[in-house]
Amino acid sequence: MTDEMAQARAVLRDVFGFQDFRPGQEAIIAAVLGGADVLAVMPTGSGKSLCYQLPAVAAQQLTVVVSPLLALMRDQVSQMRALGVEAATLNSNTEPEEYRRIVEAMRAGRLRLLYAAPERLARHDTIALLRDSHCATVAIDEAHCVSQWGHDFRPEYLALGTLRDAIGARQVVAFTATADAATRADIAARLFPETPEEFIGGFDRPNLRLAMRAKGTSWRKDVHAFVATHAGDSGIVYCSSRARTEDLAAELVAQGVRALPYHAGLDRTVREANQDLFVKEDGIVIVATVAFGMGIDKPDVRFVCHADLPKNIESYYQEIGRAGRDGLPADTLLFYGLDDVRLRKVQIDQSEAGPEQKRIERQRLNALLALCEAPRCRRQTLLAYFAEQTEPCGNCDLCSEGTPLYDGTVDAQKLMSAMYRTGERFGTEHLVHIVRGTVTDAIKQYGHDKLPTFGVGADRSRQEWRSILRQIYAAGLVSLEVAEFGRWAITEAGAQVLRGKAKVELRAGALPSPRRERRERGTTTTVSPDLDPADASLLVRLKELRRTLATAAGVPAYVVFPDRTLLELAARRPKSLDQMRAIHGVGSAKLARYGETFLQAIVGAS
Ligand code: ADP
Ligand code: ZN
Repeated sequence: MTDEMAQARAVLRDVFGFQDFRPGQEAIIAAVLGGADVLAVMPTGSGKSLCYQLPAVAAQQLTVVVSPLLALMRDQVSQMRALGVEAATLNSNTEPEEYRRIVEAMRAGRLRLLYAAPERLARHDTIALLRDSHCATVAIDEAHCVSQWGHDFRPEYLALGTLRDAIGARQVVAFTATADAATRADIAARLFPETPEEFIGGFDRPNLRLAMRAKGTSWRKDVHAFVATHAGDSGIVYCSSRARTEDLAAELVAQGVRALPYHAGLDRTVREANQDLFVKEDGIVIVATVAFGMGIDKPDVRFVCHADLPKNIESYYQEIGRAGRDGLPADTLLFYGLDDVRLRKVQIDQSEAGPEQKRIERQRLNALLALCEAPRCRRQTLLAYFAEQTEPCGNCDLCSEGTPLYDGTVDAQKLMSAMYRTGERFGTEHLVHIVRGTVTDAIKQYGHDKLPTFGVGADRSRQEWRSILRQIYAAGLVSLEVAEFGRWAITEAGAQVLRGKAKVELRAGALPSPRRERRERGTTTTVSPDLDPADASLLVRLKELRRTLATAAGVPAYVVFPDRTLLELAARRPKSLDQMRAIHGVGSAKLARYGETFLQAIVGAS
């Protein structure tokens, strides 16, 4: 180990209070300390920020951090200050008084991290200030915002290409969670004069439990039940419409959950207040449209539930990625139904995108559906989408509950034959009525009760037939035309199965079985199932203490200490400040500020 890295490790322990680097961090930090240009791609929650924060502290030099969102900058600055690191934000709200203090700290060489909005960095006075302060490193967070290929293009980011020369910095280090190779190449071309050192982290987030479930008739109750298994935890429930966020939030409140809605139609002050509460307090559930979450750095989100289908796998992974950033277990559950699929198809068809883009969006939707109906380990299917391979994970619904398969060729043939004989002009419900032999007005009107396929599938329920239809859709045997009511047609691959030239395997049992281990409300949370009762009650008291301290300091609870710290404190019960130093998240600054207080609370409980 070089001296530089030995010192970096010392900073990791003494300042940040972490025992070890997370995968990928050490190599990136070595490159940053070595002065290289860096482009690092790591999934959300894997610890990108440390890769520029730590070198700034270790090298005792100023790093300017470009970040797209005010809330994000504010949170990081309070986290840095709580660690005893001098940090500040520069944005359109910075008061003259604060600005003077920042300039002073910069001139005196005390400031380590200056978070700035990109538009602020385009100003001459800011550039002059950074040049005078010998700012050596430009760190660009959410670097995909520079690319038009990415999903959050921000024109202000384009100007960053010239920032290095303008301020005379030695290096640019850029970070993103966006996987896509085209976007990555585009980022590199726009931010770096020559090819940077690239670090592509693995995309797996093993602490996230993955689960997906088809929407049955009582799926709203299933959402309530899922949230109830996480009493006292912070979580996010994503919905596809504003109306649904309001309804679901109200239903959860009626169940005694501290749930708040969030969507673009809410009054801005209400929206911001709700987001603020979620970030600052424990145990709030936000019911939101996908507008929520970008730029929220809360490390202790314990669950993410999709009440409706996300847009595609990329969006899904980004959204569930907001859970469990602290590395502790977090739970995710996605609900999907054919109505969601149809809605999404209509959205794609009616969007402004060109035909090529629409085709790509349809493929992405199909990939997501295939993941929902996957017969094997979710993580394997998911990571395969990002071109990564892995063993069965043991932490998804299919690994833990399993899913028996059967030869579904005959079932698939029954459905497709109903499609074929009715001219591929009908939607799900009508086809299900035909195979089940249900007489409706429409069936009579078209004379479909005379078809040979009428009633051939009476032995299966409507739910089962809907599931079979979704599965053969996911397997590419049929396609959904949404022009009118969503009519089904047979694909080339489907024709092979219909003619008996190919087989198809389906999941036995229409719906995955509900989770067995329904925990009692209020007894345990996700992260502390192993604590014994005395430790669990100490944990509750430590959380109260944390909340009091956080409120007094006007910072989010996790800025005082993250969950994992409290958990370790409750389980290991340190008896001295020295023993406390070995606990995760306890660096020198926090030890000095909070050590005694927490020690007393722990001793008092013994
Ligand atoms: P990202 O920006 O990649 O989404 P963050 O930088 O916000 O992730 O880090 C996620 C969480 O992980 C933060 O709470 C951070 O304090 C924590 N963390 C980062 N590095 C380590 C480490 N080496 N050991 C323990 N926790 C870490
Ligand atoms: Zn698995």
